[in-house]
Amino acid sequence: MSEAAKPYTLEDLKNWPPQGLDWSAAHVGLAVIGHPIAHSLSPVMHNAALAVLAKTNPEFSKWRYFKFDIEPKDLAAAIGIFAAKSFRGLNLTVPHKTEVLEHVSHKSAAVEDAKAANTLKFQNGQWHGYSTDGYGLNQALIDHRVSMTDATVLLLGAGGAARSAALEALMRGCRSVRIHNRTKSAAQTLIDDLSKSSSYSSATELSLYSLGDELPAGAIVINATSLGLKVDDPSPLDLSKIPRPAFVFDMIYRPAQTRLLKQAAEMGIPQANGLSMLVHQGADSLAIWTKEIRPEGKTIPVHVMDDAVRSALAQHTQ
Ligand code: NAP
Repeated sequence: MSEAAKPYTLEDLKNWPPQGLDWSAAHVGLAVIGHPIAHSLSPVMHNAALAVLAKTNPEFSKWRYFKFDIEPKDLAAAIGIFAAKSFRGLNLTVPHKTEVLEHVSHKSAAVEDAKAANTLKFQNGQWHGYSTDGYGLNQALIDHRVSMTDATVLLLGAGGAARSAALEALMRGCRSVRIHNRTKSAAQTLIDDLSKSSSYSSATELSLYSLGDELPAGAIVINATSLGLKVDDPSPLDLSKIPRPAFVFDMIYRPAQTRLLKQAAEMGIPQANGLSMLVHQGADSLAIWTKEIRPEGKTIPVHVMDDAVRSALAQHTQ
């Protein structure tokens, strides 16, 4: 099965390794699990990075990254089998990021605060949980020379990705986080949780944002809603009232240009989609899984991951 082909299933996992796969006791498995998952580009970017790492450490030639479609009802069974079948690391995506915590023995501080994990590492017979989305977002902003330190962050959304973004903004010492969400009560819950997080300082303003409210110049607008995933989705925010300068970041990368980003481009507001966040969160996961094995000073080849994702996306849109 090629990386771009059908995902593996729970049945495949139970009977692992599947017929025809080059797999021995020396192989190490990594996987992303979600439902649905067919669209995931994670295998493409991780396997490209592993191929580069294998050039300096042949051990990595035995590492393979797969995608598995696992329904919520099968999560507990799957997590147990992944451990039994020598999988070293997992990425979790919708809808498993929160439910997976029941199966995690050790949680990083970011996981405790986010109440969600997107990365699991099997170590000393137990699953350890990490969250790399916030790191991915911050690195993506740095790629665009944008810093959250002392900034006003206008966050659209109050789900898992918004939570990671808000926590990262607090950790980076932002001046304020303003949150707008379709369901106001979810935004209020997020604000209440943020004010209790280990990264919160009373110097940071946390507040709800209603469309049309005033905003200071220099704000970073982050779309962490699912609005824009479908090409005909409306924009979550009319940028015409946003003072300049501003920066607009949309976590969505497929389609490459959402209505929000299109308006930003038309108005000359600097902007970026979520592709580099995807790459950086993946690179951080790979750094966690390979920490003990990577040669001293050998960093994760982020550019290779980036190139692999971009060429896979280009093939999809042809
Ligand atoms: P989630 O937990 O399901 O949250 C979804 C959010 O979108 C909620 O705030 C929800 O509002 C809002 N929403 C959904 N449909 C809406 C609509 N029709 N109108 C207005 N708001 C709507 O999902 P998530 O995991 O946070 O992911 C959010 C987005 O971030 C997704 O597009 C995902 O692909 C993207 N993401 C990207 C990366 C990356 O690496 N680039 C990483 C993580 C996530 P309610 O509270 O009102 O339901």
